[in-house]
Amino acid sequence: MWKLNKKLWALLSLCFVLFQDLARAADSSYGGFIFSNQIPADHIELIKEDINFAYSLPTMRDSNNFQLFSEMKVINGPHIHNWLVNRIRYFIPEQIDFETFFGLTGQDYKYLTPPSLPTLYRRGTQRSDVVTVLATNLGGALYLYGRQNKNLGTVTINGKTKPILSPRIGVIQLGDAYFSSDYSPSLDLKSVINRFYRLSTLLHEARHSDGNGQSTGFLHVKCPKGHAYEDERACDKYENGAYGLEARFNRVLSKNCRQCSVSEIEVLRVMSLDNLSRLILPTTDQDKVKHLRHALSTFEYILKLCETTKDEASCSPKKMKENTQKHAEIRNQIEELFRNRKGAKPQRTVGDSRPEGFFEEFSIEQTREFMQK
Ligand SMILES: [Zn+2]
Repeated sequence: MWKLNKKLWALLSLCFVLFQDLARAADSSYGGFIFSNQIPADHIELIKEDINFAYSLPTMRDSNNFQLFSEMKVINGPHIHNWLVNRIRYFIPEQIDFETFFGLTGQDYKYLTPPSLPTLYRRGTQRSDVVTVLATNLGGALYLYGRQNKNLGTVTINGKTKPILSPRIGVIQLGDAYFSSDYSPSLDLKSVINRFYRLSTLLHEARHSDGNGQSTGFLHVKCPKGHAYEDERACDKYENGAYGLEARFNRVLSKNCRQCSVSEIEVLRVMSLDNLSRLILPTTDQDKVKHLRHALSTFEYILKLCETTKDEASCSPKKMKENTQKHAEIRNQIEELFRNRKGAKPQRTVGDSRPEGFFEEFSIEQTREFMQK
């Protein structure tokens, strides 16, 4: 009798645990997004409110080709939500146990494009030596890591393991700073401007789920000399990368926000300008000529030196022949650049935004349903 009771009790507690798990599973997703159960409840609540806020945004007028580069059909709440859900599926917290979260299957996976050097990209602020991370698109970075190492990776969130078959797996890590007013434009976390700030951060991170081949993940590049973020990977070479898109989105918001105060519109403009300043221009022909002229003068110097110095190693007939040849090649390159010069301003390239790998694309009807559940 006791044995039976004990078994029954064990069964009942198991049911309770299962029921609890089911309840937690049901609670940890909203509007198509899945939350790691390690995210604190108040943070999940804020994200849910932000999703509702974004979904209720009215139709807005385009500005500076946001629509063209984002490929969003209409700029309104449901379409912004659809765009985000297709690129972000999971939210995970800053503190994660990487050992449990990320795995490599060891499976030799045939990636669609050859490996290229991946860079973990994150968005945050740097104060002295401490980097405060607002948000990171970990899914995109881990996809590139797997591609680089020709080894299929997996992520485990809430006990469920998924293969990383595309940067569109959409795993976004939200730093503690994302939920802190210390790193937001205003003190009130629930103010309109702070909700826009978080939304544009998500839009930025979501863009890292796009691209293929060279443009996979729309990785940031080092900012050039003299730039406010000199030498940091905080710039973009693609017009339609994360910063290019975020800049345009903030501009659209600044032009369309009816509920914003004058100072809030000003904040949106400044945010847009900061994003725009991170778009760098490709090397101009003028820069190339400058570089080549420098190389040319070096060879001229060596050749001249060899007329008087009989240094056997650097002025041997073989070396002289090589140097004369290189000198002539550089001169030809300079002439070629002058011939092709049309005086046109260098243009930033538009990256191929089609996502690489295998993923599920949700229609606007499907994502509308997600919001009704
Ligand atoms: Zn970024």
